[in-house]
Amino acid sequence: MKKILIIEDELQIAELEKDYLELSDFDVTIVTDGIEGEKEAMSGKYDLLILDLMLPGRDGIEICRKFRNHFLQPVIMISAKKEDIDKIRGLSMKADDYMTKPFSPSELVARVKAHLSRYEDLTQQTTERETENEIIETGDLRIDKTARRVFIRDEEKSFTTKEFDLLYFLARNPDHVFPKEELFQKIWGFSSVGDIATVTVHIKKIREKVEKDTSNPEYIETIWGVGYRFKAQN
Ligand code: CA
Repeated sequence: MKKILIIEDELQIAELEKDYLELSDFDVTIVTDGIEGEKEAMSGKYDLLILDLMLPGRDGIEICRKFRNHFLQPVIMISAKKEDIDKIRGLSMKADDYMTKPFSPSELVARVKAHLSRYEDLTQQTTERETENEIIETGDLRIDKTARRVFIRDEEKSFTTKEFDLLYFLARNPDHVFPKEELFQKIWGFSSVGDIATVTVHIKKIREKVEKDTSNPEYIETIWGVGYRFKAQN
């Protein structure tokens, strides 16, 4: 059930909006004062705000501005005067929609639904975009598996295939210690006795690219006598 917050000091109007929204299965909360309304809005638990412009305590513009700094959920601004709407449209703080009183409650419900569905599409697209590229980010290091690119402090570093595979494997399994033999097997795909030195050489090259101080590595630690461990950064 979508949660809607109405901040409106004219209780009759607020109740009317609430009735219509509840008929469409929305969960509606009313607050009739600006300061309380802002507090409630900033709790972050609402899917949409219906915000009156003129309120006791704090006006709708201030509340909208503060809300916008933290949340992307839709805001519909309501005003008694058309001139006010024209004025606030010009401000940098952005509500998603504006309505002038008196309006038909079913028109309000239609707009609420439209904005909620637009917002859902928007957030869904963002999620899809994020999952398109498989990315590991830790500290100053950013590994894009899909594009096979590595960035450190926003600067791209060039990696050979095996260097990349090795770094990615370690970063994907943080805080695990891997013996060199196992790494060789995982990355080069076969077990070999003599080629453990290859792992050491590759680790050295990776460190030269990603570590600030290769003698005191932050990302890939040497566990003496055992192997290597990738340390996830905060
Ligand atoms: Ca008012």
